[in-house]
Amino acid sequence: MNSNPEEALRESEERYRTLVDSIDQGFCVVELIFDERERPVDYRFLQVSPSFEKHTGLRDAQGKTMRELVPQLEQWWFETYGDIALTGAAKRFQNRAEHLNRWFDVYAFRIGEASRRQVAILFNDITDRKLSDDKLRESEERFRNLADNIPQLAWIADAGTDGEVHWFNKTWLDYTGATIEDMKGSGWRAVHHPDHADRVIQKFGRHVQEGMDWEDTFPLRGKDGQYRWFLSRMKVIRDEGGKVVRIFGTNTDVTEERQTAEQLRRLTAELSDLDRRKNEFLATLAHELRNPLAPIRNGLQILRLAGDNAAAAEQARTMMERQLEQMARLIDDLMDVSRINQGKIELKRERVELAKVVEGAVETSRPLIEENGHELTVTLPPGPVFVDGDPTRLTQVLLNLLNNAAKYTARGGRIDLRAELTSPERERPAEVVVSVRDAGIGIPVDKLPTIFEMFSQVEGALARSQGGLGIGLCLVKRLVEMHGGQIEAHSAGPGTGSEFVVRLPIVVEQAQARNIGDDDTRSPRADLRILVVDDNRDTASSSAMLLKMMGNDVRTAHDGEAAVRVAEEFRPQVVLCDIGLPKMNGYEACRHIRRQPWGKNMILVAVTGWGQDDDKRKAEEAGFDRHLVKPVDPQALMTLLAGLNVAKA
Ligand code: ADP
Repeated sequence: MNSNPEEALRESEERYRTLVDSIDQGFCVVELIFDERERPVDYRFLQVSPSFEKHTGLRDAQGKTMRELVPQLEQWWFETYGDIALTGAAKRFQNRAEHLNRWFDVYAFRIGEASRRQVAILFNDITDRKLSDDKLRESEERFRNLADNIPQLAWIADAGTDGEVHWFNKTWLDYTGATIEDMKGSGWRAVHHPDHADRVIQKFGRHVQEGMDWEDTFPLRGKDGQYRWFLSRMKVIRDEGGKVVRIFGTNTDVTEERQTAEQLRRLTAELSDLDRRKNEFLATLAHELRNPLAPIRNGLQILRLAGDNAAAAEQARTMMERQLEQMARLIDDLMDVSRINQGKIELKRERVELAKVVEGAVETSRPLIEENGHELTVTLPPGPVFVDGDPTRLTQVLLNLLNNAAKYTARGGRIDLRAELTSPERERPAEVVVSVRDAGIGIPVDKLPTIFEMFSQVEGALARSQGGLGIGLCLVKRLVEMHGGQIEAHSAGPGTGSEFVVRLPIVVEQAQARNIGDDDTRSPRADLRILVVDDNRDTASSSAMLLKMMGNDVRTAHDGEAAVRVAEEFRPQVVLCDIGLPKMNGYEACRHIRRQPWGKNMILVAVTGWGQDDDKRKAEEAGFDRHLVKPVDPQALMTLLAGLNVAKA
């Protein structure tokens, strides 16, 4: 310590100066300048530290006033320092000086008495820190905004724990209906499905501890108590040194994708099953269609060689008819299924007596039943029962069931057909329940659910299927359903017999006698001029021969142009015209004939390979009166001719 006061002052000043010179903060002493109304309007820099310029960007401030240096500095600064100068209350604050474009952290205090109006200011330029704080806040805000608005559930877990989550996004909270407090720490485990929780949480914990990314799929409970499936992914975030700082996770709802995938898997399985069945079906079809050809070919040969042997010829003919019949039935079934599938079968509904349907079916299947030595019993309810349906189709249904019973029952078996009435219940009208039960080979229980599907055949039964294609039952079911009915198959398994039960709604109001007038009892026409047009010469000539044998005058033509020509000179009353013809097709030929004066009253019958409604419509539009499906059944042709109202010429 120096005893000389002057020396001491000098030393103290020197220490002060050294301090001011050496501090890194900005420092200055200012003297406030007030106006006449005692309002602080400026201040003069009495002293500035060397670092002053670095913090403010102001040069040579000493001796100058602030207004000289920065004329537009906010009034706020003058008032703040004026206040300190007058009151002596020191202040610490952070503020922005707009015109310096800087942020300052300031500590200011008065020096000496109020009358000196001097304030010392210690300050730091904190602009950079402020900016990075703002940036951080902004980025944090942006992150939250984004995280809260993504469709995924998102969460953040702390590093170094076994997965304590401290933040969940809004989507998570909305989905679970929980608060952040409920979910925090390990609270989130509560929304995991009990069947999956252990597995998922164990694996998650292991990955967190080892600092590895993680992925898993599991159900999470929503606020409605329902579980949905989520694909959860966790990303481990590390600092530059590789230390795990944070764990970020998202859960994406994959419920629909899973359902779609499951559906796709099922569909693919179904498709490949269908494909397999279709392939089998095609093989069977080819086989079954070829089967009758060999005996027919043999029959033809026999006819050629039979000469006078009438018995042999007759036998061959009967056999050929039978084979043809079988082939036609197969093709009919196929066409029916295809038409039903396209919604093109129309029922010709009328009030039908059930007994007639049963009778028709039993009569037709009798040869097969007898051939197999089966015994058939039929039990019907007393009194007539009427159904609103298509008699042909209903007969087809029962015939199919009876034929199956006959086919799939060992020789000498029993078949029961039984019909019973049910009494009407509420919301369920009275029904008739027809059951066809056999004591045959039965059906494996696991095959019952699919037995009505197209091409469905039980393997062991194939040997007995006798040319079946596995479409009969499919057709039966569709026909029954078209009548508003239902069909079920019952069997206790192989060797236990089968029962097929058909339910049909009945017409309840009292029965009326059947309209017998509909019966067709007219005899065939035998005196017509008929033109047969077909590019297949065999078809044309055999049809012509048949019609001639019935006593008609017949000509043939093999293309459309010839058809028109022959029609003009021969003036037939009836033209049976194929559609697919060379030179001019059947429709065009028909239009041509219709336009001629002589063609107006001819009966034009289209003969086509396809009996679809569309074909019928086209034929009608072209001017055809009738439509027959190939191969034309002679009986149908006779009936058609008999019913024609032919212009006599
Ligand atoms: P198809 O008899 O031409 O094969 P269906 O559609 O009529 O075709 O029958 C499908 C399959 O259902 C048959 O192949 C057979 O395996 C089984 N099935 C049908 N009816 C019976 C029955 N009464 N008893 C045992 N199996 C039957």
